[in-house]
Amino acid sequence: MAERFHCAVCDKVEERCICDKYCYICQGEHDVRLVSDGCYYCLECREACEYLPEDANSRRYD
Ligand SMILES: [Zn+2]
Ligand SMILES: [Zn+2]
Repeated sequence: MAERFHCAVCDKVEERCICDKYCYICQGEHDVRLVSDGCYYCLECREACEYLPEDANSRRYD
């Protein structure tokens, strides 16, 4: 039931997006994930901005 986020550039969901993935804020590549605004952010910037990737609540890969 999770809401799917779509890439602001190609309008595809994260696993289908073939854009170069780097952080919108710092251009870093550490654990970069798509968030609700359609941009990618690294772990540090997501935590700083309190952005969550779409599977943050389901913990699929635990
Ligand atoms: Zn994309
Ligand atoms: Zn960043």
